[in-house]
Amino acid sequence: MMRIGFIGLGNMGAPMAVNLAKAGHEVFGLDAAGATAEGVKQVQSINEAVTDMDCVITMLPNGQIVRDVCNEALEHMSSSSVLIDCSTIDIESARAVHAACASKNVLSVDAPVSGGVGGAQAGSLTFMAGGSQNAFDMAKPLLDIMGGKIVHCGEGGAGQAAKICNNMILGISMIGVCEAFALGEKLSLDPQKLFDVVSTSSGSCWSVNTYCPEPGVGPQSPADNDYKPGFAAELMLKDLLLSQSAAELVNADTPMGARAAGFYQKFVDANGRGRDFSAALEHFKSATRGDFDA
Ligand code: NAD
Repeated sequence: MMRIGFIGLGNMGAPMAVNLAKAGHEVFGLDAAGATAEGVKQVQSINEAVTDMDCVITMLPNGQIVRDVCNEALEHMSSSSVLIDCSTIDIESARAVHAACASKNVLSVDAPVSGGVGGAQAGSLTFMAGGSQNAFDMAKPLLDIMGGKIVHCGEGGAGQAAKICNNMILGISMIGVCEAFALGEKLSLDPQKLFDVVSTSSGSCWSVNTYCPEPGVGPQSPADNDYKPGFAAELMLKDLLLSQSAAELVNADTPMGARAAGFYQKFVDANGRGRDFSAALEHFKSATRGDFDA
């Protein structure tokens, strides 16, 4: 049994912490908004959340918060412990946290996730991990409890790199699928027939086959629940903006990623906030030619 400090008990962190507690670990939870989780002992300070722990896990909103929390945590963590950051954050912050941990001889892993709240509850998240082999080996048994698939992507920051690349594909592909289903409708094509063709043809992808944005078509998805998230449009925007700052950092040309970020920025600013990112379909159904660039 391990003693685990868990910082950030939000939509994702709370069910992840619950699963660690259910597996028999002693979990101490800290959340700035006072959130709690079943089976998790609530603490009130970073000091309490990290002192004498075998492992500290963070699941926080952004890179600056992760940097601040980790810098304070490192003042109290023992050098035999491991810090696992599961948040989705920018590459530079992830690298800075690894460097700060290394300077205190604390092992560290960046381990962002895919799978959303449902995956967090079911313990079936995909973890993309970055860090030394030693750090990964220490983190792996805990990631196995919270996840179904764990990939060690490389050195520190590699997990965030994989996450950003995956979600850039997802954002671009969802826009493509929404454009195609809206075009199909305007061409008087039955969306069920379009699904039957595309889901078994070369246009098939997760955005069609698993998460079809057309209500009543394909497996159950947020489209069948009035586009309640799911994966909110503003979270997709966050990840697309991270992809663009990463691309700037390494001078990579990502024109479709940039346009997808531009689209979701407009969508969120208009009426997309709080709606699933697949609600982009509604935009394309009502839009006319040239609206995207207007
Ligand atoms: P959330 O906003 O529900 O939870 C974040 C929690 O962190 C909040 O409860 C907040 O009170 C707490 N917090 C903020 N600052 C803090 C601090 N200084 N100390 C302690 N607690 C603090 O967000 P979420 O949906 O759980 O997402 C968490 C991370 O996971 C994000 O980086 C997000 O991008 C990523 N993610 C989310 C999803 C999803 O579907 N929600 C999927 C994959 C990855």
